[in-house]
Amino acid sequence: MGTRRETRAAQAEAVIDRLEEEYPDSTISLRYSNRLELLIAVVLSAQCTDERVNTVCADLFEKYETVEDYATADQEELAEDISSITYYNNKAKYIRSAAQDILEEHDGEVPDTMDELTDLAGVGRKTANVVLQHGHDVVEGIVVDTHVQRLSRRLGLTEETSPERIEEDLTGIVPQTKWQEFTHLFIDHGRATCTARNPDCADCVLEDLCPSSKLDADVDLASGESWE
Ligand code: SF4
Repeated sequence: MGTRRETRAAQAEAVIDRLEEEYPDSTISLRYSNRLELLIAVVLSAQCTDERVNTVCADLFEKYETVEDYATADQEELAEDISSITYYNNKAKYIRSAAQDILEEHDGEVPDTMDELTDLAGVGRKTANVVLQHGHDVVEGIVVDTHVQRLSRRLGLTEETSPERIEEDLTGIVPQTKWQEFTHLFIDHGRATCTARNPDCADCVLEDLCPSSKLDADVDLASGESWE
């Protein structure tokens, strides 16, 4: 029986407690060894799996080591180097342009504010939040990716649909000390159990808390439509 807690804050707390037990080592799955590599990996990961990005980056980071390497890279060659990644042509342009800006306007250092980061090509609020959190230890918000979006709605934590509005709702109910971890817990659970098409509600540690549980709910609150 999936029954949510009385308030959204209490629901969020209960969900986090359960997921912390289930995924004690939950953290970012992209591999990088400095802020520049982190930025590149996160830009590449839009609409692409972390696994594929990690494979591509293993070679990419050996070939391109500095901001200058990316800023002066040949567009076609860089695109070819990342050609197994979705939207590789655009992403190669973003990376070159961002590297040029970092060189010209930030002394070659990846900036550490939301405004400066989102001014870089290809960097939206989600990418900036990841870079701030993991590159600079600055936690300004909650990263809302497709898993966080889907699970937050399924679990009754928000009824919003845009990542920006969902983030506003979540930062209002999740304690700030949990903002960074929250994303990784939801990503882990979204990958392992609460998948988009076929969530395994019968084997879910949140089943008794979840108002979308297929075991007793007709509607998937993520889509607002009936379970098939
Ligand atoms: S797997 Fe099912 S019960 Fe678990 S959170 Fe997702 S929709 Fe709810």
